[in-house]
Amino acid sequence: MLKELFTKNTNKKKKYATIPTEAAKSDVPEGIMTKCPSCKTIMYTKELNKNLKVCLHCDFHFSMNAKERIVSFLDEGSFEEINENMVSDNPLNFPDYLEKVEKDRLKTKINEAVVTGCGSVNGNKIALAIMDSTFRMGSMGSVVGEKITRAIEKADELSIPFIIFTASGGARMQEGVLSLMQMAKTSVALKRFSDNGGLIISIMTHPTTGGVSASFASLGDYNFAEPGALIGFAGRRVIEQSIREELPEDFQTAEFLLKHGQLDAIISRTDLVEKITNLLEIHQPGGELEW
Ligand SMILES: [Zn+2]
Repeated sequence: MLKELFTKNTNKKKKYATIPTEAAKSDVPEGIMTKCPSCKTIMYTKELNKNLKVCLHCDFHFSMNAKERIVSFLDEGSFEEINENMVSDNPLNFPDYLEKVEKDRLKTKINEAVVTGCGSVNGNKIALAIMDSTFRMGSMGSVVGEKITRAIEKADELSIPFIIFTASGGARMQEGVLSLMQMAKTSVALKRFSDNGGLIISIMTHPTTGGVSASFASLGDYNFAEPGALIGFAGRRVIEQSIREELPEDFQTAEFLLKHGQLDAIISRTDLVEKITNLLEIHQPGGELEW
């Protein structure tokens, strides 16, 4: 017994840490099949896309980029983009900033982290802004703020509702205080629009955080979210450290926010067009409530 303590146990297998490659992580061939990160079911990507990128087994909502969102939400061929060529400058001369923006531009085929324009949902004309988390994490710089403001003003000018889909990591640090100023600018535009009787619908998608959650994302007449979306201002650890308390497991999820009165409803992507159509129609003169 005592001897065993000092002899080398040769039966023990050596443990190696393996670093999975990006392709191996998903366990399935790229493209044809997709594995749900929530329930781990492997599905045909085609079927998943047909179901608006919502898992057929557990309702997990995969993230959508702005273009996919336009196709899934608006009437076919109704979208007319505005201010699509507006691009960022580098006001603080932040190292490599413009190179990073350019790289994302090539990767995503869009010019900034928000796409704005007009379109219709079952024939109801709307102005809309769709944030794209694949572009600089959907961060809000001066162009994002300006494009959203102009889309709100477009809605005001045409007297049509304004709908925004948010997805953002927060303010864009490379633009410093200019990013933070977008919170005030967009909020004032929404207030003006609201005072003129405009309807504002915000749909928060995963993730909606930082200055975006603290400004236009939360300023809708209706504030909705997709199931399971992370919505919050500061990160969990920052809050835990400052209040010295452990936070509940579901903290900063759409479900937690709904329970605490911060959201009006959680709407599954597969029901979204129907629900929003009803909402747009009840806000027409003579519209009737049907929810
Ligand atoms: Zn699933």
